Amino acid sequence: MAVTIRHCSTCGDERPFERPPCADEHGDLCPELACADCGAAILIAALLEPWQSGPAELPAASSRAA
Ligand SMILES: [Zn+2]
Repeated sequence: MAVTIRHCSTCGDERPFERPPCADEHGDLCPELACADCGAAILIAALLEPWQSGPAELPAASSRAA
């Protein structure tokens, strides 16, 4: 099972999170992770939103300081 290190707001520190058994058959796409230490579940769906995965806009044309 894949384990991801994330900040757990319950533990107040970085904790290994693992994907709990998904009841909705999302499989690897299940957006839920559970803290291996305290069991708190977090949703990571927001991190997977495609429109947030890349730069929405290019920064304004950077003028080179000559
Ligand atoms: Zn925790």
